[in-house]
Amino acid sequence: MAEVTEEAFRQEAQAFLDANATPRSEEKFVWGEGSDRVALFDEKAREAEQRQLEEAKAWRAARWDAGLGWIFGPPELGGRGLPAAYDRLYSALESHYEIPPQGFFGIGLGMVAPTILAHGTEDVKKKYLPAMYRGDIVGCQLFSEPGAGSDLASLQTRAVRDGDEWLITGQKVWTSGAQYSDIGEVICRTDPDQPKHRGLTGFVVDMHAPGVEVRPLRQMTGGASFNEVFFTDVRVPDDHRLGDVNQGWTVALTTLMNERAAIGAGGAGGSGMVSTTRLVELMHHYGSSSDAVLRQELMELHIKLTVARLTNQRALDKIKAGQAPGPELTTAKLALTQNMTAAAEFVAHVLGPRLTADTGEWGTYSWNQFVLGTPGMRIAGGSDEVLRNIISERVLGLPKDPGIDSKTPFRDLKVGTQS
Ligand SMILES: Cc1cc2nc3c(=O)[nH]c(=O)nc-3n(C[C@H](O)[C@H](O)[C@H](O)COP(=O)(O)OP(=O)(O)OC[C@H]3O[C@@H](n4cnc5c(N)ncnc54)[C@H](O)[C@@H]3O)c2cc1C
Repeated sequence: MAEVTEEAFRQEAQAFLDANATPRSEEKFVWGEGSDRVALFDEKAREAEQRQLEEAKAWRAARWDAGLGWIFGPPELGGRGLPAAYDRLYSALESHYEIPPQGFFGIGLGMVAPTILAHGTEDVKKKYLPAMYRGDIVGCQLFSEPGAGSDLASLQTRAVRDGDEWLITGQKVWTSGAQYSDIGEVICRTDPDQPKHRGLTGFVVDMHAPGVEVRPLRQMTGGASFNEVFFTDVRVPDDHRLGDVNQGWTVALTTLMNERAAIGAGGAGGSGMVSTTRLVELMHHYGSSSDAVLRQELMELHIKLTVARLTNQRALDKIKAGQAPGPELTTAKLALTQNMTAAAEFVAHVLGPRLTADTGEWGTYSWNQFVLGTPGMRIAGGSDEVLRNIISERVLGLPKDPGIDSKTPFRDLKVGTQS
């Protein structure tokens, strides 16, 4: 393949975007104008969600057909085979255009697809990866269970071999986007006689297969963007296995590393809904600009957002320069959720009761969705406490948890309700 220079690629991407999307007008925040929505979770009624999903898929299909669907992917799977930097360049250009919301693909492309690429069989890669990057199918992550979240290796969903197939039975929970997903990455217990991390295996499961049941879970924000998923003797072909039998922990780690990097890199900066401009306007509007305590709170938040943005930038610059990022990415998700929580507290202090009673006034009750969404952000993709454990052990070199149950066969552990 002829080499594509970065400049030639930029022109090509720019031409595609100009021909297919409208440039985003420079948003200047004006109090009382436009939408006052500041929700962290994209929750909609099912019909509206379905409509947006179709629009999102159409955009991905247009990108794919123009050769921009999987910029860094291997050519034998339909990818463009260009460096990851070209993909970041495309994303930067695309961010200046109005395009349908792409959040539907976050888990599938950000976490499941890289795992399939690393651990899937050739047939599974060919069957699913081009379709995922073209937006034809959507993927979800089926890890957590009622008795296994932070301690993921305690999961109990079983996969039992039956000839060339496996039979999966069990329950997953908090599965974001399962309601519109076509495939899922599921981690199952395949050998309860081994210690808990060693008897696990990963699979790609068809979410439309007989025996898969998706039940929505209502959140305190009022929406239902994640689900319980029940498996009853769901048949999965052996070639849909990810990695070797009983090596599922390595597969899960691939996904989790991608998850933390994706969440952390997503918005630790000072832009978007945690923008200090918006918060300053909030203070002006409610006459609290001269409140010494609130001013101090806002400045602390501004400093933390700036530090987080620069730390992220440093990590990205290192990657760009071909160096391995240091501890920056480990702290990114923690910084993001801490800053969101601080922003939510600040907003609550400024708005007071306006946050909880819907008077119809612009820019007040709408913050309720943000405030109620922050605890979920602190849990998803590794809770704050678990991330602190990781930082203390792997970055600061403090003593590890004794890990008393890492050698005992899973069958002999007293985990949840296992029989
Ligand atoms: C918005 C959202 C979306 C999600 N989407 C998905 C998804 O798509 N797929 C999926 O599989 N899962 C998903 N999850 C689930 C998520 O991964 C788990 O909620 C998370 O791993 C925590 O597990 P848990 O809820 O069982 O809590 P637990 O692990 O039971 O934790 C309870 C509390 O104990 C603390 N704790 C636990 N262990 C330790 C420890 N060793 N040291 C100190 N403190 C500890 C935790 O920090 C927490 O405060 C989602 C969760 C949320 C909130």
